[in-house]
Amino acid sequence: MFIDSHCHIDFPELAARMPEILAKMAENKVSHALCVSVDLPDFPRVLALAELYPHIFASVGVHPDYEDTPEPSVEQLVELARHPKIVAIGETGLDYYRLEGDLEWQRERFRTHIRASRETRKPLIIHTRSASEDTIRIMREEGAGTDQGGVAGVMHCFTESLEVARASMEQGFYISFSGIVTFKSARELQAVALEVPLERMLIETDSPYLAPVPYRGKTNEPGYVAHVAEFIAKLKGVPVEQVAEQTSANFFELFKAAA
Ligand SMILES: [Zn+2]
Ligand SMILES: [Zn+2]
Repeated sequence: MFIDSHCHIDFPELAARMPEILAKMAENKVSHALCVSVDLPDFPRVLALAELYPHIFASVGVHPDYEDTPEPSVEQLVELARHPKIVAIGETGLDYYRLEGDLEWQRERFRTHIRASRETRKPLIIHTRSASEDTIRIMREEGAGTDQGGVAGVMHCFTESLEVARASMEQGFYISFSGIVTFKSARELQAVALEVPLERMLIETDSPYLAPVPYRGKTNEPGYVAHVAEFIAKLKGVPVEQVAEQTSANFFELFKAAA
């Protein structure tokens, strides 16, 4: 069984096709999915999915790309994270690729999430793009990692260097690979995936974005995470069952989620 550790099935284009999406998960042996929150106004629909379906978990957080949205406080995140189906804080992090200008608000928002993670003891889902230096620095400054009393989490949709992967793993973080790793152009990332031990790895779709080969360019969905696992199994020269078992065990270990 595979687990999609990061998807956005509450987005309208996926939410409208829920029966089909759940059927595809079953067909492809995808047992669970984590539906990740991107802002507070849409959080109720994320939570509603997790409340409706036993095999769907959820997180609470405000994405770094959402500039014009209510700013969360530590207290607010802590309060919303009390729900038993909320297994993580995020997605949060830094994105200097999508947005420009003075992004101090992004860094402040990131710090707020790390503080909420430390307080709730729920792990972080971190998004980092063209900002790895500041991301790693703030993780250290705020004590996000298990080496500093935090509960760590996952570096989601990982596209950074091996050095960044190592700096994250040193802080107790898992590295999650999406469909990007299956792209022909992703040689460097494939080299990183080869070095990240299965024991530290998660797999995800980040659907509706980034469909893996052979669905590249189409709308992504949780069922397709099986293709990410198959690619990683081939890359590492291990049976796909081993990738499935280990990444699923990692998921439950990190998110303390009950199967
Ligand atoms: Zn992201
Ligand atoms: Zn995402």
